[in-house]
Amino acid sequence: MKRYSAFAIAREAFRYHTGWERAWRSPEPKKKYDAIIVGAGGHGLATAYYLGKNHGIKNVAILEKGWLGGGNTGRNTTIIRSNYLQDPSAAIYEKARSLYEDLSQDLNYNVMFSPRGVIMLAQTEHEVRGYKRTAHANALQGVATEYIDARRVKELCPIMHIEGPRYPVLGGLWQPRGGTARHDAVAWGYARACSDMGMDIIQKCEVTGVRRENGKVVGVDTTKGAIDCDRLGIVVAGHSGVVADMAGFRLPIESVPLQALVSEPIKPCMDVVVMANTVHGYMSQSDKGEMVIGGGTDGHNAYTQRGSFHHIEETVRALIETFPMISRLKMLRQWGGIVDVTGDRSPILSKTPVEGVFINCGWGTGGFKAIPGSGWGFAELMATGHSPLTAEFGLDRFREGRFIDESVAAGVAH
Ligand SMILES: Cc1cc2nc3c(=O)[nH]c(=O)nc-3n(C[C@H](O)[C@H](O)[C@H](O)COP(=O)(O)OP(=O)(O)OC[C@H]3O[C@@H](n4cnc5c(N)ncnc54)[C@H](O)[C@@H]3O)c2cc1C
Repeated sequence: MKRYSAFAIAREAFRYHTGWERAWRSPEPKKKYDAIIVGAGGHGLATAYYLGKNHGIKNVAILEKGWLGGGNTGRNTTIIRSNYLQDPSAAIYEKARSLYEDLSQDLNYNVMFSPRGVIMLAQTEHEVRGYKRTAHANALQGVATEYIDARRVKELCPIMHIEGPRYPVLGGLWQPRGGTARHDAVAWGYARACSDMGMDIIQKCEVTGVRRENGKVVGVDTTKGAIDCDRLGIVVAGHSGVVADMAGFRLPIESVPLQALVSEPIKPCMDVVVMANTVHGYMSQSDKGEMVIGGGTDGHNAYTQRGSFHHIEETVRALIETFPMISRLKMLRQWGGIVDVTGDRSPILSKTPVEGVFINCGWGTGGFKAIPGSGWGFAELMATGHSPLTAEFGLDRFREGRFIDESVAAGVAH
């Protein structure tokens, strides 16, 4: 595949952009692969990429029931940070954040990583204590964060009203190298690199069954026929329970809708990401000028890719309290995804009771930021049977009570 470069852009400008190659092939499935990944979201594609790049396993198919990146990866609000409390979380999220730093160069695809800084507001004494504790933990983990006071919060984000009526801002947890990236580009960049390695990305191909013999996986049934494989990675976010059921095991997981919305575009007014977990809303400004807004999950299980109406109202109300200037903005679009939430708010990257079947799920409301690190670790687990990055995130922890409690770091989410 030809590399993208400034020279290529100039060349194509002179020939009316007629010379670009397709970014990825659309092949028919082969009869057998060394590894099949179910789900062409960011985590599935990143897993395939690092299977090829780090472990030389390139006879790989990525099967997607819709279109690649059409699940949560293309629906999220793109916040990237690694300021989690527990050591295993900080390790995998920081690995991901550091891979994002030069992902565009690695993939030869501009993922528009923008390390503009993320503030998580402390608006209760409980949050002040919680975030100070996280800042100390992050210092030991080698993750650069800092607890800042209300005056510094206001300096970083002048449009914020820090003396709000219900919950004045008391301070915040600041991660200067957190930020955002372009979600579609992350999926497309990995897809292009996988296709370039000879992997088959097969869209509109739903997995409908997992075939096993003597407790070991031998292949999958799909809407495009049966396909054999030696190893199977299930990476389907909100549908994890459904596909695990096909393989004959259950997951300690719930699927719930999570929604986001964007406003009409306005002039640049905010160059950091702000999360207000107590009032339950968060906001950043996209490169186009839209205010990108999100809140919490719906309180019921569902597989609909939209959220309930009262949540929009609650989220906007929370943000008007924090940023009164947005009260005049028109909201342009609203959409939802189905997120997969575990009891300890940490992901599952694990072997399963079926030999050769691996599961990567439970990223809940905050897995976009983890895509490169998750793909790196999960590929290592699938290729070698062990990865230091994923070791603590096994299914066993729910049986043994070794929870990785991230309810503070993932409180509102993202
Ligand atoms: C509104 C919203 C806002 C969010 N904001 C943030 C944020 O700011 N920061 C952050 O870090 N995270 C955020 N998240 C979470 C993040 O989007 C997810 O954790 C992450 O994208 C999950 O990626 P994935 O690849 O596991 O899943 P997905 O991108 O959902 O991919 C899974 C794929 O599997 C496919 N699939 C399902 N069943 C089958 C089947 N049977 N056969 C074949 N294919 C199948 C689906 O079609 C889908 O494309 C947000 C999520 C939502 C919904």
